[in-house]
Amino acid sequence: MHRAGFTRHQVDGIAFYTCDAFDRIPDLRHAFSTRCGELNLGMVPWDAKDRVEHNRFRLLSALGIPKQTLTTLSQIHSSQCHIINKSIAQWDTRIQGDALATSLPGVTVGVLVADCFPVLIAEQKIGAIAAVHAGWRGTLGNIVLKTLEAMERELGLHPRDALVAVGPGIRSCCLEVGSEVDAAFRAEFPETPISVPHGHKFLLDLPLALTAQISKAGVPSSQIFDLGLCTRCHPDCFFSYRAEGKLAGRQMGLLTRICASALSA
Ligand SMILES: [Zn+2]
Repeated sequence: MHRAGFTRHQVDGIAFYTCDAFDRIPDLRHAFSTRCGELNLGMVPWDAKDRVEHNRFRLLSALGIPKQTLTTLSQIHSSQCHIINKSIAQWDTRIQGDALATSLPGVTVGVLVADCFPVLIAEQKIGAIAAVHAGWRGTLGNIVLKTLEAMERELGLHPRDALVAVGPGIRSCCLEVGSEVDAAFRAEFPETPISVPHGHKFLLDLPLALTAQISKAGVPSSQIFDLGLCTRCHPDCFFSYRAEGKLAGRQMGLLTRICASALSA
């Protein structure tokens, strides 16, 4: 697993991170956004829909992605993955779930987060991609493993060919949980200690749990990348639900394969 291997970009007043290994795939565009430039990307009650849509447009423009290609989900902390396999027209953003995968070019898949982890999956041979929303509930429900399995079953992806990037989220320095959550993780990961006692509570290492699951799914550790930045520790850079509660905005992890016609244009 690599902690290095990410680049911070600053374009037109906004900032985002990309994973260098993903950047080497010619037709792939992706990003983990930050809050720099007041870039709230989530439809939260305190922000205006027009402003959020404009912010999404700012990020997509900075990446050279057409704005009408963006697809998102109604996220519910589940382990449900959906595959977009016919056309972008089949997708309804009200559909509930926490992972979106496709091998169609010209479809941008995105997840919204503020402490939960955005996990991006890319593969070059068949061009399969996925965006996953993984908090502690989704991780306990094995959402990344289930997404890789769905991509294998429905798109023909081999996990050994996949690249996986774990974006910004709340890490073991800050993710305090109670004994019930701790016990659930101990049962799910009998061989890997995921948490440490912290007063009467426990500190949970979600990226460690996620990378263990991604390895178990068959992705070589040399192809798993972890940005290593804690959202709670960097309130200047990221939205954090634990730090800001209902006033937290959302950052996005997203990726797409640009259509050949758009590349030559
Ligand atoms: Zn932290």
